[in-house]
Amino acid sequence: MNFSLDEKYLSIQQVARDLCQSIAHIADEADESSVVHPEIHAALKYSELSRMMVPAEYGGSFEKVDPLAICLTREVMMATSCHLDSLFALQGIGSYAITVAGSPEQREQWLPKIASAEALAGLALTEEDAGSDLKNVSTTIVAGPEGLRLNGSKAFISNAGSADFYEVFAKEGDGFSLILVPADAEGVSIIPAPELIAPHVLGDLHFDNVLLPESARLGEPGKGLDLVLATLAVFRVSVAGAAVGLAQAALEEAVRHTRTREQFGRPLARLGPVAQMLADSWTEIEMARLLTYRAASMAKDDPAATLQQSSMAKLAASETASRVVDRCVQVMGRFGLVRGSKIEKFYRQARPMRIYEGSSEVLRLGIARELTQIVP
Ligand SMILES: Cc1cc2nc3c(=O)[nH]c(=O)nc-3n(C[C@H](O)[C@H](O)[C@H](O)COP(=O)(O)OP(=O)(O)OC[C@H]3O[C@@H](n4cnc5c(N)ncnc54)[C@H](O)[C@@H]3O)c2cc1C
Repeated sequence: MNFSLDEKYLSIQQVARDLCQSIAHIADEADESSVVHPEIHAALKYSELSRMMVPAEYGGSFEKVDPLAICLTREVMMATSCHLDSLFALQGIGSYAITVAGSPEQREQWLPKIASAEALAGLALTEEDAGSDLKNVSTTIVAGPEGLRLNGSKAFISNAGSADFYEVFAKEGDGFSLILVPADAEGVSIIPAPELIAPHVLGDLHFDNVLLPESARLGEPGKGLDLVLATLAVFRVSVAGAAVGLAQAALEEAVRHTRTREQFGRPLARLGPVAQMLADSWTEIEMARLLTYRAASMAKDDPAATLQQSSMAKLAASETASRVVDRCVQVMGRFGLVRGSKIEKFYRQARPMRIYEGSSEVLRLGIARELTQIVP
């Protein structure tokens, strides 16, 4: 077993670091924004990192989408800017169903633009009454002689208002289908979502009798859930990468503070309980990182078969990030509470990670289900 990253991955990390360095001066401003920051978008384009979100055939960096490359990139990005991380991640999350099930025309039309970051993508699953319970969606697709009619609303959709298209999950008869909806289709409107503790480009989508051609379908009618699962199988583990990046950056901030600030005549980092919290945090981050890299490597070959490994990594890393950043605030005392400080920003940004792309509780249910099936 090889525990080191090869040249391909090391060079991706370097490109991501260079990108982060180039946007560091606007990262805080972008992270408080609820609309896409034009300079961050331009920097992402310039970096060409979005190319890893599509296969080589359509302008991608690799023959097929590589979850480990995405994980490593998100780890670096999240340490500098949540806004950049989200913009990058959505390029894959919002387009992967086109990669796996789009028609040649849909792929030709959108994937090269996703690769260049000229077009932005969104994936619309959640509704007012359908969060974890995705099968409770009430948005409908009805096929008729004139085409497909889409009606309903989606809530809390990343990139809403900025994306060029949305992959929309809706009920069709007794099943669920996925459909590609251009943002400028007649009958699509955007309602701003509430502002979150860690701002995010987010909105609600409303579909009022939107008419789309049969060719707007992604995959077969009634197979929408399979495509959503295929997307999660590749991208869930990348949330773990981002969580590891956030936790590491928070810990480094706490180390810098506790190494220099003295109380009782010694640096805080040398006081027993503080040292213990730093040591536990470092150890837990290393555990989460190893699990994440391993799950991402496994997902590369067969994402669907390794979904539970990705869930474990996402669960472990997002819970670790929350625990670590909470300890970091604690060891920094009142300085950890200052609004606008790095640690306060990380504290807010860690929280949503335990909720989106599979909440911790829902992930545990799936992991436990698999465990009870595989034990002889
Ligand atoms: C920043 C952000 C970005 C988002 N972007 C998108 C996006 O781009 N596209 C999109 O479609 N959605 C998006 N979402 C929505 C996200 O997917 C949902 O928040 C998530 O699926 C959880 O649903 P919910 O918030 O409705 O919580 P609920 O499903 O109402 O769950 C509430 C609580 O109950 C627990 N719970 C629920 N079911 C069970 C169960 N069976 N057993 C035990 N506990 C359970 C949950 O773990 C949670 O703790 C985003 C959310 C956030 C915060």
